Amino acid sequence: MEWIIESAVLATAIGFLMARQGSRYLWTAVAGIAMAYWSIMHTPPAWGLLTGWVLFLAIAALLTLPALRLALVTRHILALYRKIMPGMSHTERAALEAGTVWWEAELFTGQPDWHRMLGFPAPELSTEEQAFVDGPTNELCNMIKDWEITEELRDLNGETWDFLKKNGFFGMIIPKKYGGLEFSANAHSAVVMKVGSRSISAGVTVMVPNSLGPAKLLLSYGTEEQKNYYLPRLARGEEVPCFALTGPEAGSDAAAMPDKGIVCRHDFEGKKDVLGIRLDWEKRYITLGPVATLLGLAFHLYDPDRLIGQTEDIGITLALIPTDTPGVEIGSRHFPMEQSFMNGPNRGKDVFIPMDWIIGGQEYVGQGWRMLMDSLSDGRAISLPALGTASGKLVSRAVGAYSGVRKQFKIPIGKFEGISEVLARIAGSTYIMNAARGFTTAAIDSGEDPSVASAIVKYHLTERMRQVINDGMDILGGRGISMGPNNFLGRAYEALPIGITVEGANILTRNLIIFGQGAVRCHPFLFREMESASAGDVAAFDDALFGHGSLVMGNVSRGLFHGLTRGRLLEAPQHGIRGHYYRQFSRMSLAFAVTAEAALLSLGGGLKRKESISGRLGDVLSYLYLGSAVLKHHYDNGSPDDELPLLEWTCMDLLYNIQLRLHEVLNNLPNRFVATVTRLLTFPLGKPYRRPPDELGHTLADILLSPGRLRDRLTEGVYIPIDKTEAVAQLDDALEKSAAAEPATRKLRAAMKAGTLPHGDPEDAVEAGVTAGVITQQEAGDIHSAIAARKIVIQVDEFLPEYLTKEQKKWGSNNLDGVAGRFM
Ligand SMILES: Cc1cc2nc3c(=O)[nH]c(=O)nc-3n(C[C@H](O)[C@H](O)[C@H](O)COP(=O)(O)OP(=O)(O)OC[C@H]3O[C@@H](n4cnc5c(N)ncnc54)[C@H](O)[C@@H]3O)c2cc1C
Repeated sequence: MEWIIESAVLATAIGFLMARQGSRYLWTAVAGIAMAYWSIMHTPPAWGLLTGWVLFLAIAALLTLPALRLALVTRHILALYRKIMPGMSHTERAALEAGTVWWEAELFTGQPDWHRMLGFPAPELSTEEQAFVDGPTNELCNMIKDWEITEELRDLNGETWDFLKKNGFFGMIIPKKYGGLEFSANAHSAVVMKVGSRSISAGVTVMVPNSLGPAKLLLSYGTEEQKNYYLPRLARGEEVPCFALTGPEAGSDAAAMPDKGIVCRHDFEGKKDVLGIRLDWEKRYITLGPVATLLGLAFHLYDPDRLIGQTEDIGITLALIPTDTPGVEIGSRHFPMEQSFMNGPNRGKDVFIPMDWIIGGQEYVGQGWRMLMDSLSDGRAISLPALGTASGKLVSRAVGAYSGVRKQFKIPIGKFEGISEVLARIAGSTYIMNAARGFTTAAIDSGEDPSVASAIVKYHLTERMRQVINDGMDILGGRGISMGPNNFLGRAYEALPIGITVEGANILTRNLIIFGQGAVRCHPFLFREMESASAGDVAAFDDALFGHGSLVMGNVSRGLFHGLTRGRLLEAPQHGIRGHYYRQFSRMSLAFAVTAEAALLSLGGGLKRKESISGRLGDVLSYLYLGSAVLKHHYDNGSPDDELPLLEWTCMDLLYNIQLRLHEVLNNLPNRFVATVTRLLTFPLGKPYRRPPDELGHTLADILLSPGRLRDRLTEGVYIPIDKTEAVAQLDDALEKSAAAEPATRKLRAAMKAGTLPHGDPEDAVEAGVTAGVITQQEAGDIHSAIAARKIVIQVDEFLPEYLTKEQKKWGSNNLDGVAGRFM
């Protein structure tokens, strides 16, 4: 009996310490009390008593007396650490240190503070920004004809270029005092999303001047003179900017660029012996390059004659070069996947520029890589995620409508389980993308510059874009494949690899950056350990190392405890099913923290080369981030019940994928002992998560298959043409008419079942239904207009053969020769 009480007390104490993550002092005190109790109540033999107390006191002293630990233990660990940790180059360090850490860091600790997250501001548009989205942005979209851009002109038309420049689309990030729009990140994202849903070519044209480029770099580093001269010109569209980093030899590894600048003296614009730089470069893939008037250039600077200091190899430097400068060769074009935004190579041979063309002036020589890394993340977090979300919304709305009206085997195809499964994935992904987009832009608007989060949204939203567009194309079948002005998805499909490749190609971003940078920046102690080790600071190293040790012990014990109790005792800021998901994401955050430690511990610096493992850990961190975004989005929306199926489906899907990836990490960890122990600690009762059930998937699909408030909310911000002859508008119209006809169709079906009408397709029984008094004339009219609307949207474009072989293509009402659009 006595041992049962003792065990219960001990288990309760340990359980409490595990759940609350007691400090090492508390653990030591509890262990001391247990030792004393054992010594007094159980009178062990003298040798046992002595050994027990010596061991306990030694461990307790090391845990609680830092000076002793420093001298006896930490010094030796530091020496070993310095030997095994890989070195870090300047460029790696700049990339790792760029930006801030935000919510990703909470997820790394294993203890996300959900109350803190719910306190983050929600993404919002000011009245002025909303007016711009509803006004000039809509006007721009009305003006754009993507077929004209991509097939006939291979460029935006002159009117569109003028409209973009005059209305400030190129100056969204430029402050008002320089004549820009000074928009929030959320507004910037909303504009790119709407334009991108209309035309990828126009979307890219709008997003590039507002991402990493001359304006962004000038705002952060420009001299007053540079800002005062260039920013107003950029805001007014008098200058078209581009930024040239990539070249034939330097793609993902852009820091390896061979483009070279030599500090020298030269006569310039009538002045003698001006101090400046002689440049040679070869760049490619540069967006807006062919039409740019202002070229932002990255190059490696050398000073062999020591004209500006004592160093020859100065490092990567950034300059602004007017494209009419002698020696600059610019203008020819690449042709990226049938898209018609401007993109091309540029070169320079013996181009002389004065020192004050360096962004920030001479004092910024050699700072280029750090400037680029620091300026990269917010652009990366805005433009491409907006484009990805635009695709999700467009596919949800238009392909959902098509699935609701396109019939095969006399049934709308969306009602087949196979299509329903795909529609559920589309709706779920769109909900996730929109949530992650707003979560991240709101962070930027509140002053964060979250570098890991920006890599997460860049990677995952462009991958989801790929998935939803592919899914959409599968559903559309031939309607998606036949190109022409009425194909609303084909060009986006062709453009998919662009988003995947630019601003950090996706394989690299997933496998190297998300976890690699995440581990170093977001881990509460790893960076401090690395910093103190490289500085040889034993006290700081001890602090970080033992803090790290406490965190690991705490997470291990909490992970096991909450694994055994299935997360039921974790705290959550909401109740019911919503609370359940907060708890499960907390539990998986713990499992992630423990597994990441296991990988770091067993692989050390070798983890850098184990990209398959770090890629999967990056996926887990990303799914935790996306799950947080979804919970926050739902909360910000007022936790409406009609959204619950979307919330549940997305949370279940993300949790299932977290579980999958964590097991894949553990299956592939070379140290099998560590893997087995970690699996026991993180999933002590097996795998708790399942894929979302089919029924829930059908509920999601149904959201897209009929008009409704939730469908409108899910697809809000995507452009719906006001021209009712356009495909996306026609699909909306067809879906509404189909919904309006549904009650009458149901009556016909019921009459067939009851034997009043012969069995068959209700659409063939409309007149008979009227004659038999089953439906009214008005209801028959509803069915007829639904049929007529459907017949329009299932058509595809046709061309006379001459059109496809003609050199000068023209699609328009006054020049239809060679073109036979069925429903023009
Ligand atoms: C349409 C378009 C517009 C662009 N606009 C601009 C612009 O305006 N300015 C500019 O400077 N650049 C621009 N770029 C360049 C773009 O940033 C690069 O294409 C990109 O950095 C990748 O370089 P790369 O194409 O040479 O591929 P590579 O670097 O050759 O990469 C090939 C593959 O290897 C993978 N990879 C590379 N290293 C690793 C690694 N360590 N681990 C795992 N995988 C790895 C990549 O993920 C990729 O899948 C643009 C590119 C395109 C296509």
